[in-house]
Amino acid sequence: MATKPFASSADLGVKEQTLEVLADGVYALTAEGDPNLGAIEGEDFLVCFEALATPVAARRWLTRLREHTDKPVRYLVLSHYHAVRVLGASAFDAEIIVSSEQTKGLIAERGQQDWESEFGRMPRLFEEPESIPGLTWPTMTFRDKLTIELGGDRGELVLEFLGRGHTEGDIVAWIPKHEILFAGDLVESQAALYTGDAFHFDWASDTLDRVKALGAQQLIGGRGKIARGRDQVDAAIEQTRDFLLTMQRTVGDVHRAGGTLKEAFEATHTALAPKYGKWPIFEHCLPFDVQRIWDEMDGIERPVIWTAERDRQVWDELQG
Ligand SMILES: [Zn+2]
Repeated sequence: MATKPFASSADLGVKEQTLEVLADGVYALTAEGDPNLGAIEGEDFLVCFEALATPVAARRWLTRLREHTDKPVRYLVLSHYHAVRVLGASAFDAEIIVSSEQTKGLIAERGQQDWESEFGRMPRLFEEPESIPGLTWPTMTFRDKLTIELGGDRGELVLEFLGRGHTEGDIVAWIPKHEILFAGDLVESQAALYTGDAFHFDWASDTLDRVKALGAQQLIGGRGKIARGRDQVDAAIEQTRDFLLTMQRTVGDVHRAGGTLKEAFEATHTALAPKYGKWPIFEHCLPFDVQRIWDEMDGIERPVIWTAERDRQVWDELQG
């Protein structure tokens, strides 16, 4: 019997990167379902949002950005600890690397294992992996909120922890003046969700409610297209919620009935595939997603650490 190739290991197609200017001094890079990035200009400095998987990959983004501004990077903001978002940090030469306190703790606790796990799952994103100097360590952290004054009439950039979601420590970057939100992996717009390190119940309720309450007019999610206008923004948020609620229902039914993890996976796949099956990384994510929500239903509060070995085990059990 032919088995599916592990995670995204067979996804070798190059994605086209698109830089868009969202407002004066506000930039986003999207890449057909690969991780998105952002940058916000202050009067005499730059704030960058997310760092990709390697310095070589990040440098390609910086080259694009440098066509628009040559200001130095004062802040590099990491939305959460996942390797494909943080390990390219050294390319930015940032004065300050910012994350939530929770994210810094997660890097210390599981950053190394996550690096090895993500490298196995998505090798294509790790362009020249030997260029990574080591784990990325935030140099400024906060618990709930940090405001950066951009200077001149640029207003402020608000970094905020809105509750547990995609991980225990995700933050968003909000520009009130332009009503632009960089939501990290808390919201995906036409891309599948990775929930292997998530808190499904917090995320689908209070956390997404708080994201929605910001009232963004433009939203850049972790992957996928930029949502423009309230209708598209709300659609992206509700797509994210629907994915999570569907998992809660399908896995919950099997779990309560005393079924198996494999049955929960099949039921979830059947329920989600018609709507989300064609979206980036759907098949890759689903086994890890179902395993994590199953663990949550078993009363395991914090996500079990993914290692390259556990990845293969769960994959073989569910997608094999
Ligand atoms: Zn992530």
